[in-house]
Amino acid sequence: MNTETDIGMQTPLPSVLAFSNIALFLDFDGTLVSIASHPDAVTLPPRQRRLLSTLQTRLKGALAIISGRRLADMERLTAPLPLTLMGCHGAQWRDSDGTRHAERLESEATVHLGAALTEFSQRHPGTVFEDKTYAFALHYRQAPQYERACRDTMTRLWQAHRDAYQLTEGKCLLELRHHACHKGRAVQRLLDTPPFRLRTPMFIGDDRTDEDAFPVVNAHGGFSVRVGEAAQSQATYRLDSVEEVLSWLERQTRSMSR
Ligand SMILES: [Mg+2]
Repeated sequence: MNTETDIGMQTPLPSVLAFSNIALFLDFDGTLVSIASHPDAVTLPPRQRRLLSTLQTRLKGALAIISGRRLADMERLTAPLPLTLMGCHGAQWRDSDGTRHAERLESEATVHLGAALTEFSQRHPGTVFEDKTYAFALHYRQAPQYERACRDTMTRLWQAHRDAYQLTEGKCLLELRHHACHKGRAVQRLLDTPPFRLRTPMFIGDDRTDEDAFPVVNAHGGFSVRVGEAAQSQATYRLDSVEEVLSWLERQTRSMSR
């Protein structure tokens, strides 16, 4: 568990740093592209496409996008760039040569959770059950009167499957997330293999789930970068916005080409 002293406010990232030996890990939504009203409305604009392509070359392949989206979704958004991609917070991934991998799931648990939550949402109109393969989310935004019932059910299901799942909470939603969904584990997995190995890690992200990656990056003497206003976070550095992320990275690519 982290203590208060580990969690500080962030300082702005230096405008230029020795970038050629970085292993760069990027979150997607809210980091590389602005958050849209619906996740399906997001595309990868030409500016980001150019930047990722240049970074991939200059960093000799030590670039990965690590997102909560499904891997197939990330492949569709970034095609045809030959990037290392991780979906479902690292539970599924694709090497830059196109080889796909996925953490194994226990079908007994997934079938039980899927059936129980489908039945629950049918019996509690307005609640929404979302099967994200490695995570099961129960939303109650449209049915706040069922918050208690949602909590009781998700807690009961978590107790039955706590060896493989953790229970997390978001805005009007509860989520049972498989242990494989962990951006810190995802970063460590990549840092153990070429071309990421022996490089200094940098992780840039804006999400609560990115907090799992920051301590891993810090332990490797790397750069943990939170996107947004200064906040209680494990990140050491900060960039203000998506626009600042893009211009900061573009500046590094220019300095590397000199
Ligand atoms: Mg994000």
